[in-house]
Amino acid sequence: METPLVANLARITARLPQGVCLLAVSKGQGQKAVEEAIALGVKRFAENRVQEAEAKFTPALKEQNGLELHLIGPLQSNKAKAAVQLFDVIHTVDRASLVTALAAAMAATGRRPRLLVQVNIGREAQKAGVLPEGLAGLLAQCEVAGLTIEGLMCIPPAGQDPVPYFTQLAGLAREHGLAELSMGMSADYEQAIAAGATYIRVGTALFGGRG
Ligand SMILES: *Cc1c(COP(=O)(O)O)cnc(C)c1O
Repeated sequence: METPLVANLARITARLPQGVCLLAVSKGQGQKAVEEAIALGVKRFAENRVQEAEAKFTPALKEQNGLELHLIGPLQSNKAKAAVQLFDVIHTVDRASLVTALAAAMAATGRRPRLLVQVNIGREAQKAGVLPEGLAGLLAQCEVAGLTIEGLMCIPPAGQDPVPYFTQLAGLAREHGLAELSMGMSADYEQAIAAGATYIRVGTALFGGRG
């Protein structure tokens, strides 16, 4: 039987330009959905919690299928080591204390996940991310700590036109010479691609609702 995932994946990937990576956001989805996506050839998954990701993506599953795992949720410093061990890319570096914790975790584990800085592009009190005016300082701290930052990530405010926020994030990345832009979710990934996204993070448009 053709499940919605088959059709959703085909529809999204058919229109994906060169250089844009689709991240399958599997948070809130069960093991079966993950395994179905793997069977369909999906290699890049994103989760927003360390513990949920650890439970779903065992080292064996990752290795056997050549998976790349992305962390897209806020990271507590006390979980930095677990995150460094599990994830291949961390999109949510956003403060000096986390930079210190990640540098220590990398030294301790010998693993070096790729890193992006999350920017609180809408200046929302409830959202994680460094404020735009704090970005230069945080990038300088990363450099001192020996962490290479590849790009920027954002989640624009809900219920507003995301395009000005995507454009602003792209401008900040250009200003700092950063190549990767993680922006765009189910509702707005096409606009994010038009604004220069290199990673789109798609959950419900791929898997359907979260359980
Ligand atoms: C949940 C989540 C997504 C995916 O959201 P959908 O609307 O289901 O596509 C993308 N990015 C982040 C940071 C998320 O937490």
